[in-house]
Amino acid sequence: MSELETNSIHIGKDYNKTNAVVSPIFQSSTYLASDNLDEYIIAASETKYPEFYQRHGNPTNSQVAAILASLEKTEDALVLATGMAAISTAILAVVRAGDHIIAQRSHYSGTALFFKEFLTDYDVQVSYVDQTDNEAFLEALKPNTKLFYIETPSNPNLDITDLAFIGRIGKERGIITMVDNTFSSPINQTPAEFGIDVIIHSATKYLGGHSDLTAGAICGSKEFVQKAWRRSLVLGASLSPFDSWLLLRGLKTLSLRVKQINENAQQLAEWLQKSNHIKSVCYVGLTTHPQHELAKKQMKGFTGMLCVEVAGKTEDQQYNNAQIILKNLKIFANAASLGGVESLIVHPASMWGGHHSSQQKKEAGINRGLLRISVGIEHINDLIQDFTQALKKI
Ligand SMILES: *Cc1c(COP(=O)(O)O)cnc(C)c1O
Repeated sequence: MSELETNSIHIGKDYNKTNAVVSPIFQSSTYLASDNLDEYIIAASETKYPEFYQRHGNPTNSQVAAILASLEKTEDALVLATGMAAISTAILAVVRAGDHIIAQRSHYSGTALFFKEFLTDYDVQVSYVDQTDNEAFLEALKPNTKLFYIETPSNPNLDITDLAFIGRIGKERGIITMVDNTFSSPINQTPAEFGIDVIIHSATKYLGGHSDLTAGAICGSKEFVQKAWRRSLVLGASLSPFDSWLLLRGLKTLSLRVKQINENAQQLAEWLQKSNHIKSVCYVGLTTHPQHELAKKQMKGFTGMLCVEVAGKTEDQQYNNAQIILKNLKIFANAASLGGVESLIVHPASMWGGHHSSQQKKEAGINRGLLRISVGIEHINDLIQDFTQALKKI
């Protein structure tokens, strides 16, 4: 098997030892031990052993991990209960007290909180750089830098980080590179091809794809996955059998969903750009995106994520108009999360209102007139029609 459309359906089938064509849900916390104690030692200690105890592994978790490793072109992968479990576990597998991380100014809000409120308590320093400026990553280097942590396109501003550059400077200096690839999914971007060591996903989003599960993934070398697995054993966020089974089911249609989502988002972005009620549209697939050329170099598709700044004479007016749009859209649901078959829309300044100061929001580029859209697989005519009627209410 070699093409991703085939791999996402067929890789790892051997973990299903039954005759059922579709792997059953292994809803069991524990598994019968072998009477041979030498074998039992292996079951109890081998990385991700699928039939020992749920926190160590599960046959479906192994199957899903095998698919994700093949899609991300890494040696191995580990699945966990949420994207944040994957992020925190992977980072804690790299750094210890006294170490330094170079991260970006804008990250997923949970990741930003992990850096600012958790790691600092454990004496890990983090520098935040402008991801669009390659030199900034070099300038932030310190003798104790252990990790480059990046996210591209980033949340919610859709800034791009130069993957080939980060991959190269990481290799040259022996510093681990890690990227949150949630927004792209492996259909649109495979960072390992640019020399990135570890690829993280919130599988809650595109990989699951139906807004009905939470899961996370860490893709990397066998050695790194083993390290992360050992951390996960004590941190304890194993992926539940049922969520894992839903994820396995979701992955079978990943390529179809993402291709349709890419197409819908491009058309919606181009349409919104022409509206007088929209001040600006930020979408990686538009030639007006300041890093469109870089995106073309490292991405195969431009995702379903876009941001619009609503028009208005003042920021208060923009805010009011954003509220009118949110209230009147009928197909786009006003809900957190992204990457599902249904289109969603959120107001980032409100979503993060409680966790970040207005200064932090300003630094992350979050204006009160900003709306973030996750485009689904509905028919594009209906999506445009929905915006047409909502914008008329302004
Ligand atoms: C949602 C998300 C996460 C966190 O994932 P959970 O599954 O909610 O824990 C991390 N990174 C990005 C980019 C996300 O969108």
